[in-house]
Amino acid sequence: MKRGNLIVISAPSGTGKTTIVKRILSEMDNIQFSISYTTRKPRPGEMDGKDYFFVDEKTFKNMIEEDEFLEWANVYGNLYGTSKTYVEKILKGGNDVLLDIDVQGGKSIKEKKSDSILIFLIPPSLKELEKRLKNRKSDPEEVIKKRLKIAKSEILEYKNYDFIVMNDILESAVKNVKNIIEAMRHKRKNMEYLIGKILEEE
Ligand code: ADP
Ligand code: 5GP
Repeated sequence: MKRGNLIVISAPSGTGKTTIVKRILSEMDNIQFSISYTTRKPRPGEMDGKDYFFVDEKTFKNMIEEDEFLEWANVYGNLYGTSKTYVEKILKGGNDVLLDIDVQGGKSIKEKKSDSILIFLIPPSLKELEKRLKNRKSDPEEVIKKRLKIAKSEILEYKNYDFIVMNDILESAVKNVKNIIEAMRHKRKNMEYLIGKILEEE
């Protein structure tokens, strides 16, 4: 069976990554979300085992020691990590896996899994980013300030990414991300199993 592809999506907080990831997962087949582990507290409406696996710092540090993460990072003061076994299970099953991780995580994945696809979402402007963070009403003022301060340095990490998509008009951004994933599925290495089948015909 064909192995799935590993797809990373990163963006400065507030760009619209969660919104776009949800659309991709509901509108495309054969793609699953990598549920990360985090020490961050759940936001209203977030569910353990769906949005994240919410754990305490002791559990997270134990997992680091046991080498259970494909990558992990400290983002805005909380720990976040991608489970090795979780990702591997999806890929082995033939489905693509979507990682919603920060720029530090993107860099580690590129180094470890060079055939993964990294997509970077950018906001139309920093002003619009601030507006979206405020409109979302999910973070206190000081958290928003912290995230905006980091946004510029995060944008500078665009160089580690294969594709850049601007999230100005949501529909266009969703379409562009879908097109990238679809194009990747047609890369030669992903289609060889079909060619093999044709050539085996009588
Ligand atoms: P992230 O996951 O990148 O932090 P979210 O998906 O939570 O961002 O989006 C931040 C806020 O911006 C949300 O309130 C969301 O509804 C809004 N948003 C997302 N995309 C757009 C867009 N293209 N135009 C305007 N608002 C958007
Ligand atoms: P939030 O707290 O808004 O859900 O996420 C904050 C940031 O952490 C986002 O940029 C998100 O992509 C990132 N993040 C979520 N899970 C992981 C992970 O497993 N690894 C890394 N490196 N970053 C993550």
